[in-house]
Amino acid sequence: MTTAELPALDVAGRIDRLRALFPEAGIDALFVTRLVNIRYLTGFTGSAALLLVGPDEVLFVSDGRYKDQSADQLAAAGVPARIEISGTEQKKIVHDAAAAGGYARVGLEAHGVTWSQQRSFASEWFPGAELVPTENLVEGLRRVKDAGEVARIRAACAIADAAFANVAPRLRDRPTELEFGLDLEFEMRRLGASAMSFEPIVAAGPNGAKPHARPSARRIEPGELLVLDFGCIVDGYCSDMTRTVSVGDPGPEARHMYDVVLESQRAGREAVRQGVETAAVDKACRDVIAEAGWADAFLHGTGHGVGLEIHEDPRVSATGRGTLATGYVVTVEPGVYLTGIGGVRIEDTVVVTPGGCDILTASPKDLVL
Ligand code: ZN
Ligand code: ZN
Repeated sequence: MTTAELPALDVAGRIDRLRALFPEAGIDALFVTRLVNIRYLTGFTGSAALLLVGPDEVLFVSDGRYKDQSADQLAAAGVPARIEISGTEQKKIVHDAAAAGGYARVGLEAHGVTWSQQRSFASEWFPGAELVPTENLVEGLRRVKDAGEVARIRAACAIADAAFANVAPRLRDRPTELEFGLDLEFEMRRLGASAMSFEPIVAAGPNGAKPHARPSARRIEPGELLVLDFGCIVDGYCSDMTRTVSVGDPGPEARHMYDVVLESQRAGREAVRQGVETAAVDKACRDVIAEAGWADAFLHGTGHGVGLEIHEDPRVSATGRGTLATGYVVTVEPGVYLTGIGGVRIEDTVVVTPGGCDILTASPKDLVL
């Protein structure tokens, strides 16, 4: 599927949904500096921009490199912003707009602003306003994916599935972890991905005991547990999947590890539905692994949101707060990691529905290739 065949994104309504959060956040305007959030709110995909969202007006500022692109993309998205292009006058443009708007309280994205930026914003950009730290206002909106967003994540998952099916037979040739990671990357790009969601994890034998191992020059041998965690990007949206496989029988201990994690992952998937606490999904996975005696070997949270970023809200973990809602896209990825032996992790990306979830990652879950 090419990008042109994907359903349109519903960008235009997002700024009004953001404004609806202003009263509770105690702000008149939000100064958006995280690029991924500017992309979400405007459709702009360039590498430099600022966005000042007021109660009735929107100011978009970028530099000369993006003069045409920003006009085209904001028009295509139907975002009614005033677009200003300047390399040197950005501070003055934003300052004057905030002053003209009479904003008394301007929100900053507390998790995206450095200390030095905050000092500069306070003294030079918004000297007449009180600056208010805000947390995850846009990220909160981004948790619910519209149909266009789900279609892009689904397309990215389908590419990862197809790539895995195409290159898996090469594991019989004992490639190195690095070689096989490159095979996966190349195949995902060949099938239409614009980039990787992250560098693929290809972790064989004892390397699999490290949940985020980087691919090495080690050869992947028959009978070893092999953890493969990978995903790609389609029109800005990520996919994420883990499969654990072995070329030939890995033996009874490894098969037992695999069966426990497979059961844990199934329990987690079956716990996912609208209205369920994220911590309850984590517990569903964790209980199965604890029952098998490996509570201490499940070293990470159960999952995370996936969208424009590979890790985004909500966190699905024992300490995570909040409930799942229809349209959230999250991963379910329990694992067991035994030092010196290896690891098993199985991960799907799913969309939350009223009665359960749709699984977007469709690769088979067979241990033995
Ligand atoms: Zn993953
Ligand atoms: Zn993940």
